[in-house]
Amino acid sequence: MRFTDRPGVPRRVVGFHRDDGGHWVADLACGHGQHVRHEPPLASRPWVLTPEGRAAFVGETLHCVRCAEAGAS
Ligand SMILES: [Zn+2]
Repeated sequence: MRFTDRPGVPRRVVGFHRDDGGHWVADLACGHGQHVRHEPPLASRPWVLTPEGRAAFVGETLHCVRCAEAGAS
């Protein structure tokens, strides 16, 4: 078992959707989702509030914790 500051498997962002609470969730290539909240000062992601900002983030990499928990690589 190895612990890091950023657990998770690197996955590309393929799109976005909103959850039931109206929060933005990044759709990852593995099929999982990851919240990308804009809640300053805890999380400052003003780009997620605009279509242009989200489009620019498609193709970026996020670390999927669910994949790590599942033991996938
Ligand atoms: Zn995943």
